[in-house]
Formats: sequence, C-alpha cells, structure tokens
Amino acid sequence: MKYPDILERFLSYVIIDTQSSDTSESFPSTAKQKDLAAKLKPELDALGLHDVQVTPWGYVLASWPTNQNHKVPAIALLAHLDTSPDVSGTGVEPKLHQNFQGQDLVLSASDNVVLKVDENPLLKQQIGKTIITASGNTLLGADDKAGIAAIMDALTYLAEHPEIPRPNIKIVFTPDEETGRGVEHISAAEIGAEYGYTIDGEHLGEIEDETFCADSLEINISGINVHPGMAKDKMVNAVKIAARIIEKLPKDTLSPETTEKREGYVHPHQISGNVETATVKFIIRDFTVKGLKKFEKRIEKITAKVTAQFPGSKGEVKISESYRNMKVIIDKYPEVLAKAEQAVAMAGLKVERASIRGGTDGARLSFMGLPTPNLFTGGHNFHSKQEWIALEDMQKASEVIVNLMKLWAE
Ligand SMILES: [Zn+2]
Repeated sequence: MKYPDILERFLSYVIIDTQSSDTSESFPSTAKQKDLAAKLKPELDALGLHDVQVTPWGYVLASWPTNQNHKVPAIALLAHLDTSPDVSGTGVEPKLHQNFQGQDLVLSASDNVVLKVDENPLLKQQIGKTIITASGNTLLGADDKAGIAAIMDALTYLAEHPEIPRPNIKIVFTPDEETGRGVEHISAAEIGAEYGYTIDGEHLGEIEDETFCADSLEINISGINVHPGMAKDKMVNAVKIAARIIEKLPKDTLSPETTEKREGYVHPHQISGNVETATVKFIIRDFTVKGLKKFEKRIEKITAKVTAQFPGSKGEVKISESYRNMKVIIDKYPEVLAKAEQAVAMAGLKVERASIRGGTDGARLSFMGLPTPNLFTGGHNFHSKQEWIALEDMQKASEVIVNLMKLWAE
C-alpha cells in the first residue's frame, strides 16, 4: 500500500479550516474542527491502528498495541486539531518556496506581505530547504498541523517497518487547544498511557518541559456616584481610580510587551465600568508560584495605596488559579525527558531545552497524571500570517518520534 508522504499529508490538513473560537461556549468551540477529525479517522484506520474513533466531543483517539513480547509502557502522542482564533484559517493556500537561498519571501505581492530574513534570523539556517508559508491573508496552521503530520508520518514509517520495535502507542488529537480547553472533555484514564508527548513546539531540536504558572486577577473598584451637577466633595469616580491603578504599573518591565524568556509579567487585559463601579482584569504569569505571589502582592499594594487616595472608595482584589508550571510534575519522571533528548540526538540534532511562555494541553495533562513534555514541529511565527515551516524540519520531527518509540520499546 502506498501511503501519502509527510508533505502531502501536511498540505491536505492545512487547507481544512479548523480555527477555534474563544467566545463560543460549545465544545468543540467550532464544529469545523471535526472536518479534520473526520479526515484523520480513515487515515489512521488505513495504517492499521486499533479502536480509531472520533468521540462526540471531537477528539480523535486511536491505539496501537506493541509488537514486542516483553513488557513495554503505553506512550501517548498528542497534537491539536484547531488553529488560533487570532488569525483567519479560512482558505489557507500553502506556498512552497523550494531550495531557499536566504532571500526575503513574498507571501502576497498584492497585499505586500513579505517574510523578511532580517526579522526572522532563524530563516538564515534554512538554506537549501523547502520553506512552506501561507499566502498572505491567513495563518498557515503549522501550529499544530505540522504536529499531526509528523505523528501520522512516524506511524506510517512504523507501519512500513514492522521490524522496528514500538511500545503501546496511544494517539490523541485534541480540539480547542488554542482556547485553553483542549483537555476539558478527556481524562488521563481514557488516554490510558503512562507518558505523553505533545508535538506542538517550534524550533528544530527543542524540548519544552516548562510552562508558565498562571493566575487571573480581578480588581473590583467601588466609588460613589452623585449627580455631576452637585458632586463637589461627594463624588468618588471608580473610572479614575482604575486609571490611576494602571498608571502605577511599571512602564519598562513586568508586561508582555517588555519581557521575554524566563521573565514573568502582570497584564491588564480588560477594563470596564462607570463612576459607581469599575473592574480591571489581569492575567499574571511567572515560571514560579513564588514569582506569581510577588506580582499579586504588588497589585494588592497598588490597589490599597490608590484607593486610600480616594476616601470613600473600595478596591477588592480577587485571584483565581489558572494553571501551574508542568516542570514540578515532569521532574518526578526524569526518563520522559531523558528519552526525548536521546531521540533528538539520534536524529543528529542539538538538544535545546526551552520553556513555554504560555500553557499547553501537556501542562494540564501532567497535572492530571500524564507527564507530557512538548517536542518541536519545526514551525515558526505561530498565530501569524508570517507563519512558516521548513519541510525538512518537519521530517526531522517525524524521525524523532520514530526514535522515541524505538527507545520506549527497548
Ligand atoms: Zn499549538
């Protein structure tokens, strides 16, 4: 049987619109994510996987028993079906730039969308490769269809090479990762694996075992409303209090737009209200819980100080936990990372340990009892019209998965 290669698979996945929605309350947040699920089911069947199903919630699940006689673990391979709500995924037209020579890449001449080498230094390492982009008006969807393609391609290789030892393999393609709800309707027991890997990272060779710790914080301000015509010495304006609190935040640090790598931030992302009451919503991010608490204390202090300047006003700070750095869990299972590092090295790549400035399905799964670090796909500029991936890097992602399966079956 002739199976499609990784490029054919990838191109056939990205043209299916699977954009999720962060305002929808249904699950999956958009029904069109199931279009890709429906395409993947027969492909998994054709590879000989067992129990292939699309669940009513839109998860694609499959399992593949080991070909070994000794006891081996069950390893889950995960990727997500949806693309970011931020940029359109309708009518994706993938463009192949073959034998890349280090030039700027024109995605759309008419709309003047150009992928510039100066702004994307990693492109300089891609000479001679085939770069895949969208054509200016949409994202590409390598996040995370490159992950799905790499997994499907690794399974294809294993199907064509039954002599290669493999562990018990569990396949999980999730909807709604981008809305943070990817594992809302699945349990670790349902997945039935001891360890997992999301294939949802970026640069070649990268292994991510850390995510942010995340809380959300809300300041509820109450002022005193009086008719403006007779407000002298009586009115206390909640709108102005909210503005003053935000004004007191540092300007050059502690925000998403001024931090990178391992720095955390406090991010006011929504403000609403009137004279009587106002609410400011924040997200708080850091790699440690201690860091989070420090930032939260700081906002509480600012709130107390500012409301003290407005006699009669009140400011109440409410904090709720969003997710925690998966490293605390993954560190308890050093073999999960050790095997990943070995698999990357076997593919002739330099291992790069990185931390994710965000959360992943893997972070939530790790806390649900399935330790799940994240491996590279080769993609770049996720959630953007400038998204790109080198075909050869995606092939490396597939090779790493095959290596990883071999290692777990030993
Ligand atoms: Zn992703």
